[in-house]
Amino acid sequence: MTPENTAGDCIFCKIVRGEIPSDIVYQDDDVMVFPDINPAAPVHLLIIPKEHIPSLADINDSHTGIIDKMVKAAKRVAREKGVGESGYRLCINNGPEAGQVIPHLHMHLMGGKRLGWSH
Ligand code: 5GP
Ligand code: ZN
Repeated sequence: MTPENTAGDCIFCKIVRGEIPSDIVYQDDDVMVFPDINPAAPVHLLIIPKEHIPSLADINDSHTGIIDKMVKAAKRVAREKGVGESGYRLCINNGPEAGQVIPHLHMHLMGGKRLGWSH
């Protein structure tokens, strides 16, 4: 059976709706930023569209500008969290082999230490 992937069931949509509490770092009409529950770096935030878009592969012409808004939110919170100058990484996992486990588009922002790189 294919697992459901609807806004009703989605963990990140529940955070957007306030049904799961989260320490919201930033939000506007289109995007929300909150800490990753299992941080891989001293600063590890998730930047999401408020709209339920399952993955990067599902972005289409109706989502005009959303990636731009996510990147601008990332840049803003990176400064606020003190990693704007020291450096940070933005990463979007798309699909199983990239390790995407939450089927709601999200961008990881990681910083606060020298980050390794593995494949
Ligand atoms: P992915 O592997 O899909 O790119 O990343 C999903 C991320 O979401 C993981 O880093 C995981 O720690 C985080 N995560 C999973 N469930 C929750 C949750 O309920 N709240 C928060 N804040 N982060 C979560
Ligand atoms: Zn969702």
